[in-house]
Amino acid sequence: MKKLFLLAITPFLFFSAICQALKSPEEFLGYKIGTHYTPHWKIVSYFQYVANTLPATVKLLQYGETNEGRPLLATFIGTADHIQNLESIRMNNIRLASLAKDKMAAVEDGTPAIVWLSYNVHGNETSSSEAAMLTLYDVADSRNTKTQEWLKNTLVVIDPCINPDGRDRYVNWFNSIVGKQYNPRIDAREHREPWPGGRTNHYNFDLNRDWSWQTQVESQQRMKLYNQWLPQVHVDFHEQGINNPYYFAPAAQPYHEAITQWQRDFQVTIGKNNAKYFDANNWLFFTKEVFDLFYPSYGDSYPIFNGGIGMTYEQGGGPAGGLGVYKEEGDTLALTDRVMHHYTTSLSTIEISSLNAARLVKEFHKFFNDAVSNGSGEYKSYVIKNLPQDGERINSMLDLLDKNGIQYSAVSGNGKGYNYNNGKEESFTASTGDVLISAVQPKAVMVKVLFEPKTKLVDSSTYDITAWSLPYVYGLNAYASKDKINPAGAYTRATDPVTTASDVYGYVIRWQGVQTARAVGELLQQGIILRIADKPFEVSGQQFDRGAVIVLKNSNNVFAGSLWNIVTKICNNNHVKLNAVTTGFVDKGYDFGSDNIRVLKAPRVALLTGEGTSSNGAGEVWHFFEKQLNYPLTLINANDAGRADWKNIDVLIMPDGSYRFLNDKSASDDLKQWVMTGGRIIALENAVSQLTRLDWINLKQKKEDDTTDKKDKDIYSALKKFDTRERDNISNTTPGSIFKVDLDNTHPLAFGYPSYYYTLKMDNNIYEFMKDGGWNVGVIKKDNAIAGFVGDKLKTKLKDGLLFGIQYTGRGSVTFLTDNLLFRNFWENGKLMFCNAVFLTGR
Ligand SMILES: [Zn+2]
Repeated sequence: MKKLFLLAITPFLFFSAICQALKSPEEFLGYKIGTHYTPHWKIVSYFQYVANTLPATVKLLQYGETNEGRPLLATFIGTADHIQNLESIRMNNIRLASLAKDKMAAVEDGTPAIVWLSYNVHGNETSSSEAAMLTLYDVADSRNTKTQEWLKNTLVVIDPCINPDGRDRYVNWFNSIVGKQYNPRIDAREHREPWPGGRTNHYNFDLNRDWSWQTQVESQQRMKLYNQWLPQVHVDFHEQGINNPYYFAPAAQPYHEAITQWQRDFQVTIGKNNAKYFDANNWLFFTKEVFDLFYPSYGDSYPIFNGGIGMTYEQGGGPAGGLGVYKEEGDTLALTDRVMHHYTTSLSTIEISSLNAARLVKEFHKFFNDAVSNGSGEYKSYVIKNLPQDGERINSMLDLLDKNGIQYSAVSGNGKGYNYNNGKEESFTASTGDVLISAVQPKAVMVKVLFEPKTKLVDSSTYDITAWSLPYVYGLNAYASKDKINPAGAYTRATDPVTTASDVYGYVIRWQGVQTARAVGELLQQGIILRIADKPFEVSGQQFDRGAVIVLKNSNNVFAGSLWNIVTKICNNNHVKLNAVTTGFVDKGYDFGSDNIRVLKAPRVALLTGEGTSSNGAGEVWHFFEKQLNYPLTLINANDAGRADWKNIDVLIMPDGSYRFLNDKSASDDLKQWVMTGGRIIALENAVSQLTRLDWINLKQKKEDDTTDKKDKDIYSALKKFDTRERDNISNTTPGSIFKVDLDNTHPLAFGYPSYYYTLKMDNNIYEFMKDGGWNVGVIKKDNAIAGFVGDKLKTKLKDGLLFGIQYTGRGSVTFLTDNLLFRNFWENGKLMFCNAVFLTGR
């Protein structure tokens, strides 16, 4: 009897000593999860608490920090054995992907599958970080026999919040305005989040568009870790509109053709497992709709192109959800429900992955074996030419390849391939500095996805842009070859130019890219007087193109002996070459003392932002000035435009937006007056069409060209079939495609460019050529579509019109940039034109 009693109690004692210490999120925080919003620091506290309580099986890693200083975390949960051997598990996984530099063979047997769960990338889709705490608790708690069984063959990684700054922007706002009880009426203010909303990061960037490009600090730090691990399964947790229930895999069409059958099939397997739990709870969900797998910079497509199963899960909710809200059908959607759904799919995904762990590892291995033996796609090699003015853009492209683990090499000799500039098969000769990117390498699928000239689109109704081929993004000359071209050794980047200050007449800087603009901006801020040549010139045996910036000792006497020290320091820091000149006597072109050599002044730049502007658009400009140009920028709320101190602004940037102040006669007269006296407006995207409403703006929107349609106009074309309505609607749109723009590169707006530019066209706006008082700097002639989906009707409209131009009014100007030159900060070749607009277009 006594013995039996002991037997019965021993497991309990053992159990309580080891485990009872682990508190649930509710016990730790003092409230039921979903009844309050948890600020980020408390989520961090809970994760730290669990890791400290269970050091043998939970390892917390801070992999970075946000713009606003919040920690970014990855939590590894596994068996004690796995956690102890984390580094060898990681190395083995990288060997499975043929990406390890060592020569040790990879092991499939007994290798755990890695399931990586990323929560709250969109900061105002808040239920998922709450669910992350519940998931952590269940997976880590050693009393939970079910999850402990899964961990035997599965390593779980939880990133509780990808976008802490955005989350806290939403949560702090919500907590500050909600009453003692939440109000479920949709018209209550707690369901109307103010500008810019918590979706994006500090600079209003959407982190779920940034996986490949990694322009944001959160992505840069996270993707470094992600690429060191490459999980077999990745889930990105989101929220959608409150009236939608829940979406999970399998994804909608279009699927990128590079996605393998196994990846398609396993999405279905996972989806069915999720459905099992949803059915059991009588919850609604949908699959195979809306969320496609095409654009490569999402948290689902990127993992797929990197050998895993990547998925997006979408719960109804988002910023309109609050703590609870009435849905259209009358039910209340509570945060507690939203949390339960994400928590359920989290566990279900780990479960089904564990049930298929060996297969997941095997297929992951096969994905990379195929990549290194056969490559991906019809093109086997991509050769990028390195022309003298391309150095900076080549380097930023190589940075992008490095970030994504894509290998490249030097190349020499002759080859033939598809010329990206003219679309023809041609022979070419590779020379020193050119880059070879082989499509037969571990990251072959990424190479195909990022480089192939035209991406095959099986279904044209997509969620995002349809073209992003890197040679167009970077404005580089390139060939795609079906031949396997052999590398000519490792690639060595050109060494950075370093100038030692010497006592010369002056220095000339070639106008070539963002680095040049940054150096010039920094020189101007120092008060150094710069000059610019609008025509090419030749001096001291050196040739310079339009836009060359000249620094002379003359006019900068105030700096006395320190001038060249300041100039060389700034240029060296920015990797910008200084070309010494010993005379003002120019052999060809204008002498430096000529009236035709303009003086450049430091413009005082303001950006309209806030309510009424596009938060992404305004954020792109803000981010560009702070992170890339390092140039001061005053942010003015568009609603305060009437109160701006115009006389202390030289350049006003109007991002995409809808500007109410333009409707006010006196405000728009003030704006005109300011331009007349020398002010310069730079209007971006839809701000251009807003300005065309003003009578003093010369630019006019192009009307649909109906002369060609008329004669064969089909009266029955009005009879559309209901069933194909979605498809009919897209014939007048482009979700984002590439057009070739003819540039007048003799105008300062196009300095530093060849006679063309590849633009990302995302709307149907095109403008008539300006006849008087303006310059048509960038135009589309005929049908210049290069890549991506363009609706049939739009194709006929998007020709023979203006996309980039400038109007001079009084002593000032209005620059029209109708396409986004700074798109998501990755459309590298647009940045220089934006810099031209800021620095070079004054008079
Ligand atoms: Zn989202």
